[in-house]
Amino acid sequence: MKLTVVGCGDAFGSGGRLQTCYHVEAAGTRYLIDCGASALIGFNRLGLDPNAVPTIFISHLHGDHYAGLVWWLLHAKHVGKRATPLTIAGPPGIEARLRAASEALFPGSFRAARRHELSFVELAREECCTIGPVAVTPFEVSHPSGAPSYALRFEAEGKVLSFTGDSAWVESLVPAGRGADLYVMECYQFEGEPRFHMSWSTIRGHLDRIGPKRVLLTHMAEGMLARRGDVADPRAVLAEDGLVLDI
Ligand SMILES: [Zn+2]
Ligand SMILES: [Zn+2]
Repeated sequence: MKLTVVGCGDAFGSGGRLQTCYHVEAAGTRYLIDCGASALIGFNRLGLDPNAVPTIFISHLHGDHYAGLVWWLLHAKHVGKRATPLTIAGPPGIEARLRAASEALFPGSFRAARRHELSFVELAREECCTIGPVAVTPFEVSHPSGAPSYALRFEAEGKVLSFTGDSAWVESLVPAGRGADLYVMECYQFEGEPRFHMSWSTIRGHLDRIGPKRVLLTHMAEGMLARRGDVADPRAVLAEDGLVLDI
């Protein structure tokens, strides 16, 4: 299993980083975890092919995690000439939210005919969903987005890759990441309790009972970026756009 960080920034461009988007290669397929507005910019920087991705999983319906789907669908139609099916899986209401965002930004774009199949899967809390060779279990977290916000636990090739999405600390983040080979955790600040987000001091306090083998700290705001050199835990890896990890 190989994870490529396409974007690991927050919603505000902190550190000049692109918005959240992870590209995963596993079990002979590829999938995305989140698709922030800058996803295609990251794909172009890294030489990745949008048409080679059959499935996109979305953690929650904030623009820095799903708005890139607007441009993704435009690219599929006008540039990539995509002919292969695309499945988008995310919280209940994802299709309506994407339609509204698409029609607001590029009127007529969502309604227009497309040459590839497009299907939506609504993920239900703590129900395992299998799409191709990838199984995902969503855990509801604490982060208001107008729909349930999820942490996502992926299993493929006998490996576990988990992602907190955005969230304040909540107990569901323990089973979401328990024993994961890699737990991608949003770490907005170094310490304290930022509203609807987590800090490194909070994460560090829970790591032993979650038990991940490695932790990738991501979605860092300026304050956390300035202190990232103070993270000393050997399990912790600091995200960078373009970083590639073998899991
Ligand atoms: Zn975010
Ligand atoms: Zn968010």
